[in-house]
Amino acid sequence: MGPTALEGDQPYRTAYAADLSEASVGERIRLAGWVARRRDQGGVYFFDLRDASGVVQVVIDPAEVPAARDLRAEYCISVEGPVRLRPAGMANPDLATGAVELAADQLGVLSRSEPVPFIIDDRAEADERLRLEYRYLDLRRPRMAKNLRARSLAAAAMRDTLGRRGFLEVETPTLIRSTPEGARDMLVPSRLRRGDFYALPQSPQLFKQLLMVGGVDRYYQIARCYRDEDFRSDRQLEFTQLDIEGAFWGRDGVFETLEAVVQAVVERLRGVTLEPPFPRLTYAEALLRYGTDKPDVRFGMEISDLSDAFLKTKFRAFAATLEDGGVIRGFNAGKQEMSRSQLDGLATRAKELGAKGLISAVAEEGGTLRSQTAKHLSEFETAAIIEDLKGQPGDLLLLVADTAAVAAQVLGQLRLQLGRPDRHDDLSFLWVIDFPVFDEVEGGGLAPSHHPFTAPVDLVEMRERPRTAIAKAYDLVLNGSELGSGSVRIHDPEVQQEVFDILGISADESERRFGWFIKALRYGTPPHAGFALGVDRFLAILQQETSIREVIPFPKTQTGIDPMTGSPTAVDPVQLAELGIELRAGVDADDPDREDG
Ligand code: ASP
Repeated sequence: MGPTALEGDQPYRTAYAADLSEASVGERIRLAGWVARRRDQGGVYFFDLRDASGVVQVVIDPAEVPAARDLRAEYCISVEGPVRLRPAGMANPDLATGAVELAADQLGVLSRSEPVPFIIDDRAEADERLRLEYRYLDLRRPRMAKNLRARSLAAAAMRDTLGRRGFLEVETPTLIRSTPEGARDMLVPSRLRRGDFYALPQSPQLFKQLLMVGGVDRYYQIARCYRDEDFRSDRQLEFTQLDIEGAFWGRDGVFETLEAVVQAVVERLRGVTLEPPFPRLTYAEALLRYGTDKPDVRFGMEISDLSDAFLKTKFRAFAATLEDGGVIRGFNAGKQEMSRSQLDGLATRAKELGAKGLISAVAEEGGTLRSQTAKHLSEFETAAIIEDLKGQPGDLLLLVADTAAVAAQVLGQLRLQLGRPDRHDDLSFLWVIDFPVFDEVEGGGLAPSHHPFTAPVDLVEMRERPRTAIAKAYDLVLNGSELGSGSVRIHDPEVQQEVFDILGISADESERRFGWFIKALRYGTPPHAGFALGVDRFLAILQQETSIREVIPFPKTQTGIDPMTGSPTAVDPVQLAELGIELRAGVDADDPDREDG
């Protein structure tokens, strides 16, 4: 390196890019970072120098600093020179450092870069698989760097808030015996006890309950959880929860704490002050008014039950639905300029969602409805629809006659399709409470609606009417996404056993799977309650990202693959032999006819 190179024991930098402003004009500054967006003008080179803080423009004259000629995109460099004002008219108001530039007279190339596979710039859209294959380059993009910072700030806000409230951060193991959260376990074979397997935790649920038995009054952990689920929507095999639990605690305590945590995170990331307490809605009401247990309440279009108005209807389709115990529900989609084919599209969508049909009607001046169904409706019924749905002339009214479950599902989805804002500028938090203890599963059996450690509101009700019994379980919902769930737990071993009985888990099986846990409950277990908040989803919403993959440093693709490391991969036969595992024909990665699960 010649006299114009940085060398020796000098520090790599004396400032960060984002520190430079008009106040630094005239100072000699050294920066270290990457070459972004290089352009040449009249023999002088301009580039953005990007570091962890942001970017600043650097000007360098190759006549003065010949090494500048070799600079390419993403070279890692250190440059030094005076800060100066950009010439008149050349300031960039979109850039925080846009009024100034560094006139570099010294340059050190710290390491070169191969040509990069995509432009590292927020404005350039790159294919996601490629971005994940080169995640280390993707993370250099300002947007991704911002998301990483937001994640760290959020974690700090959580720790601050909970630490101040006396919560203890406790780590729980990741090689465990299965914790049932309703998904498939990820398994890890044991080498020392061949043939035995650990499960990775679907959540720290049972361990945090044991901490309560252990006298830990308030627990939290920013915990990694693993669920071997088929990839529907926006999920990951491993994800992060803020997991909390408290002894001698109940729902209101959990809500108050979570509200404080959420408020601190939102304040840190958005600079917005929320106003807890958040509204509460029962599960039953949520399903009725929004057709879902995670309502997006940023917009109206609430669903109404119109069944009562049709008790004497002559319209055969409606009468038959009501006779079969079904419902007639609808909502007002407001003034929607829809063509015939768009309306047909809605009807097709309704059928895909399981409805027998969709009735659409437009309210008209004079209290009439424009609809193919209008002729079947009495004056009273027409008036009731318009009144209940508050139809103003021109409003599109959508009705479904079906079972309560189908009507909720279909209208809930259409409501989202027609009304949901696609950005998350406003934040609407909501507690959904009073979930059922059990859900019916195919074949008529029962499965825990939350998890099997959730306390029922009323034990007698649970014994006598398990299908309709209510649990002390709750969800936190933000803008129509479930942020997390929690419950008051069962702390009586006999009640815990009863729940297993109702679930059809035999005494033998429950002893085998959960005997160790029920044993612990027998040693003076305090009443306790808790919650887990999905950190990835929460951050994605706060950062206005549509996928949680944008806020996870190293996520997997939708199909569970990491294109960067190539995982999952086959393992060395020696490793398998050590574990006592032999692959069957057809599941061997080297088998050309391999079938994936
Ligand atoms: N373990 C539960 C879950 O992961 C949360 C809780 O009940 O605290 O959803």
